[in-house]
Amino acid sequence: MRLLLPYSPFVLEDRTVCIIGLANKAGGFTGHDAYLARVFGNLAAISLRNSGRLEKLRELSRSDVLTGCFNRRGGVGCLDHELSRIGRTGTALAVIMFDIDEFKAVNDFYGHDTGDQVLQEIAEVATKNMREADILIRWGGEEFLVVAPDTDMESAAVLAERLRKTIAGNKFSGPGKITASFGIAQYQKGDRRDSLIDRADRYMYLAKQKGRNRVEPV
Ligand code: GH3
Ligand code: MG
Ligand code: MG
Repeated sequence: MRLLLPYSPFVLEDRTVCIIGLANKAGGFTGHDAYLARVFGNLAAISLRNSGRLEKLRELSRSDVLTGCFNRRGGVGCLDHELSRIGRTGTALAVIMFDIDEFKAVNDFYGHDTGDQVLQEIAEVATKNMREADILIRWGGEEFLVVAPDTDMESAAVLAERLRKTIAGNKFSGPGKITASFGIAQYQKGDRRDSLIDRADRYMYLAKQKGRNRVEPV
């Protein structure tokens, strides 16, 4: 039997996403050609589905379930990418570490669910007040890291102060008022990922020591 145009659909999750068709074979196509097109279509559909699932899994493994921002593993990947980029381009890069003040009391007083809600709201407020290129990472329990590409110390201080003010002025679930303490560091030649983060972390602790709800260095 001769077929004019063998074709096969790619079916993914009960949906046809495309159709492969064969054309222009001298002498026309046979039933065997049609069979091969179908086998190829099925294999291609399976590979496409698996690569989509793999990509979804990769995305899930890099994000924080509670807040939806990057988790530490995903954030480290982004930071390393930015560090390698400034190695090539020589542009500025800053990081901002911030930690919610007296958060244990929020959990103790209003319960863990409200604490979780506050963490989600903090991530939402912070994201709204950053540029699209800035990266928000949930670094630990109630501690966040912002990676700010093309940003020097002065601009990072402006960003951190804006985040501090917006958080302090926002009405959160439970306690209503929440504050956070911020530490900033700009990449310097010879810095590694850990030395850069340590510097921001040390300044964040200095902000705690100096009374919280502030940015260091000033
Ligand atoms: P400080 O101003 O010195 O940072 O005080 P703090 O109370 O914020 O710091 P501390 O380290 O004593 O407490 C942190 C609290 O954050 C304790 C912990 O239960 C809470 N926490 C960490 N992760 C989560 C979370 O995922 N959900 C909730 N609800 N609480 C969390
Ligand atoms: Mg804290
Ligand atoms: Mg903490």
